[in-house]
Amino acid sequence: MKHCQSTIFHGDKFCADCGEVLSSVQKKYSVEDVCPDIFDEVKQYYKEAEAKTGRVLQSRLYKRFSKSSSRNLEYSYWWIKLETNQGEIIETSISAEHKYTTSIGRGDILTLYYPTTMTLLYKKSRDAKKFVKDNQAAPCVVVHGDDGQCYTVENIYPSPSKKTPWLWIVAGILSAITLFNGSRSASESAWVVSIAVALIVLFLELKRNKKKFAFATAQHEALNASFNKLLKVTKYQLGYNNLERPKQSSDVICIQCNARLPENTRYCTCCGNQSAVQVPPAITTQYASNAEFGAVEPTLEASETNHEVAQREHVQFASAPTSLSVSDIQRRLDEIYSYHSQGQYTHHYALSGARHWTLTNEFILARVQSKSVNADVSDVTRHTTTTTETKHYRGNNYQYSTYDTRHSSYRNRSSTLKGKVILEYVSGKTVTFTLSEDILGDVDVGDWLAIADSYLEREDNYHYYFEYAYNISKDKEYKDRSFANYSDVQGANAWWGWNILFFITSIAGMFANSDALLSISVIGAILFNVFALCKRITSSSKNMRQRKTLLKPLQAKVSEFKESLQQLKKQLNVLG
Ligand SMILES: [Zn+2]
Ligand SMILES: [Zn+2]
Repeated sequence: MKHCQSTIFHGDKFCADCGEVLSSVQKKYSVEDVCPDIFDEVKQYYKEAEAKTGRVLQSRLYKRFSKSSSRNLEYSYWWIKLETNQGEIIETSISAEHKYTTSIGRGDILTLYYPTTMTLLYKKSRDAKKFVKDNQAAPCVVVHGDDGQCYTVENIYPSPSKKTPWLWIVAGILSAITLFNGSRSASESAWVVSIAVALIVLFLELKRNKKKFAFATAQHEALNASFNKLLKVTKYQLGYNNLERPKQSSDVICIQCNARLPENTRYCTCCGNQSAVQVPPAITTQYASNAEFGAVEPTLEASETNHEVAQREHVQFASAPTSLSVSDIQRRLDEIYSYHSQGQYTHHYALSGARHWTLTNEFILARVQSKSVNADVSDVTRHTTTTTETKHYRGNNYQYSTYDTRHSSYRNRSSTLKGKVILEYVSGKTVTFTLSEDILGDVDVGDWLAIADSYLEREDNYHYYFEYAYNISKDKEYKDRSFANYSDVQGANAWWGWNILFFITSIAGMFANSDALLSISVIGAILFNVFALCKRITSSSKNMRQRKTLLKPLQAKVSEFKESLQQLKKQLNVLG
């Protein structure tokens, strides 16, 4: 949809070129709107079949478990929040282990298809109880992507298999034989009748099975046909294109309503404010720093003035800046929050020479640009056979043995998500980050993250520490291993060497019957070990003090960040 030259995006109220109020708004459709007969056939078999199409607002990873003496199973699920084309919010679980659903997150367009309902039976993890509201799941998920569609379906609709009435054939033959043997003396017609009856029963059973199979096959085909029809529905047909303007570093923020707009937009698409006035960068920077972003905080009056501005038909020319540049705001955030330092760390040991490391500390503020996640599922069943022998005796004489063999199996299933995100720093730099599962499981594209880390490096050896991470968009804090707890013990060989030497000397002293040698070795061993212990205590406290001092500036940065979090959130909301 267009007005003048510009494409209209969802949520636009004014034309970006002429500033006119838009009379028609972009609509979103359901799969049934696009293809009205899509479920006609499948509904003959699955009466309650339905589908919901929408956009993912949020995704959170969680686990379900089943533990018993013979198994330990773990499954990964996303708890998603979906806004349908009708504006309804649906929250439900979908499997996180399928190829097409592992990377599901904010902004993805999905159709949740329910031929039947699906209930998850396994227990959810303890932390999942806080946000997973029920045990319902979507059995089939269609992902409407930019380049096409794909779907995943849970294994609850197996393809029909033909049942051969072997039992009836066997039973028929057996009864015929029995009748034949038993009825020699009786009239021959009796078993002829019996066989005839058995044959009729067999025939009827075959016919019934055939009918059942034909029904199951038709049902399965109808289901597959519905999947194939769903696969053809594109996000463009559903009206889910042009949802958001692609973000550019040259974007500006409308000073009146805080909407983010491309650089050369003449009128704000949200409030109709004329924003084409080019502001020299110097003024914008000054404005941004003087106002301390006060101006970009949302104001309630903005919507009141919208209409007035629109009605005035935009005749006046603004003399004051009407927009702030996004890159200026980001530069300012970079100045305030970003931190980078490098220092030397010397790790002292009790019995060997110190080692020198280079420590790099960093505090970053970044937006998640994209994420790519893979599910790593391992499912192993171990079979064990144990044979117990029982010996039988008569009096004291062994007679024979009996053996008792037991087969048992243990199934162990683990499910882990691994992946990477591309982060766009406020400085504009993009960096690929490997995140641990707990952080990755909560991350959506567009989330703002604050990360403090330490990188310890020496020759070809290095250690990486996630000191602190905060998902600002989800309000969740993460702490991992810290450099403060770094430990490394060297010199074990020297310690053993000296102690063995003292031990050998004392043995030699005993053999030679030399009290002097014996006491020298005992006193030597005691002195050496006391020395090693004292040295170890002093070097480890020296190391700890050093690490504390080195981490202090980074920790100060983290506390500064925590204190200004509320204000920062408002500023990041504007950036989107
Ligand atoms: Zn227009
Ligand atoms: Zn505006």
